[in-house]
Amino acid sequence: MTVLGIETSCDDTAAAVLRVGDGVEILSSKVTSQVAEHADFGGVVPEIAARAHAVRLPDLAAAALAEAGVAPAALDLIAATAGPGLIGGVMSGFTFAKGLSLAAGVPLMPVNHLAGHALSVELSGHVPFPYLLLLVSGGHTQLLVVEDAVTFRRLGTTIDDAAGEAFDKTAKLLGLDGAGGPAIEKLAVNGDAARYDMPRPLLGRPGCDFSFSGMKTAIRQHVEEAVIALDAADIAASFQAAAVAHLISRTARAIEMAGEARHLVAAGGVAANTLLRSELETLATSEGWQLVVPPLKFCTDNAAMIALAGARQYLHLGPEAISGVMRLAPRARWPLDEREADVTLGSG
Ligand code: ATP
Ligand code: FE
Repeated sequence: MTVLGIETSCDDTAAAVLRVGDGVEILSSKVTSQVAEHADFGGVVPEIAARAHAVRLPDLAAAALAEAGVAPAALDLIAATAGPGLIGGVMSGFTFAKGLSLAAGVPLMPVNHLAGHALSVELSGHVPFPYLLLLVSGGHTQLLVVEDAVTFRRLGTTIDDAAGEAFDKTAKLLGLDGAGGPAIEKLAVNGDAARYDMPRPLLGRPGCDFSFSGMKTAIRQHVEEAVIALDAADIAASFQAAAVAHLISRTARAIEMAGEARHLVAAGGVAANTLLRSELETLATSEGWQLVVPPLKFCTDNAAMIALAGARQYLHLGPEAISGVMRLAPRARWPLDEREADVTLGSG
């Protein structure tokens, strides 16, 4: 089937056209970032993000369709993010998708943004179900067993900050410009990871939940207590080593709990981190597992993963999946192990 994907859950506006059948063919994939719009505010401003999505999406979707050489009425499906995320942005995108669906007479599939990340690995190749997923993004840090395109069993989640958030906050405390994760990674290259003490969260605690708030507090203290100039490279390296060690130790536990899975997939922006990738590779190899990490452009937010997840879920569930979609209210919170989007207006 030919499917248009739409993604507007945070500060990237994205549209993509895919052909999904036995395999996957990406006909077009466009992402525009709003980094410039939010730069002066030290973070994403929800109202500005929602407006920017509303302004950009019509042209971006038209451009994705034109590049793919597909007319709207020739689509078999429109797949749009319906949550979780910044609600104004999700509503901008999903409302646009409803309009296009009605105008073009094409069914609309609501997609959980996290399902997009969870299934994105198929954009770069086939991985058999079930697989263990480490989802490490700006807003989420979870370990899930992906049983099939619609069944996700959550083994662990963060009890406070997300991993990406911890990278971003550390970068901010160090006064670094631009995207937090890449800035920390770059600075850490020349740093001494053993220089600063970092907590080892949840050490020995059963299960595979995560916690990053202690690291943030430790870094703030190191920054405040620095008498002479603090060595930012050493802080960056110490934090990165501690964050990666924590992700690895919890993932090792999840491997014990993952049943039949023998593939480990990492997705989300933090999966771009080189140290994390190499440590995951070491862990997988020592367990006799195979590690699969999608290329960076599919790890961070994009619409190809939304188109793919929408198509796979629609093919799995059938047209039942979209009954009542025109009454569907997007959700700011939508845990991945809740299969249905909530159709009651106003529910969170
Ligand atoms: P969510 O999907 O949870 O709503 P999001 O879509 O905003 O969040 P992503 O785009 O998947 O998150 O990832 C962005 C995060 O990834 C940011 O917090 C960023 O700092 C982090 N990140 C990106 N590159 C790296 C890197 N090389 N090392 C560590 N973290 C990184
Ligand atoms: Fe995301």
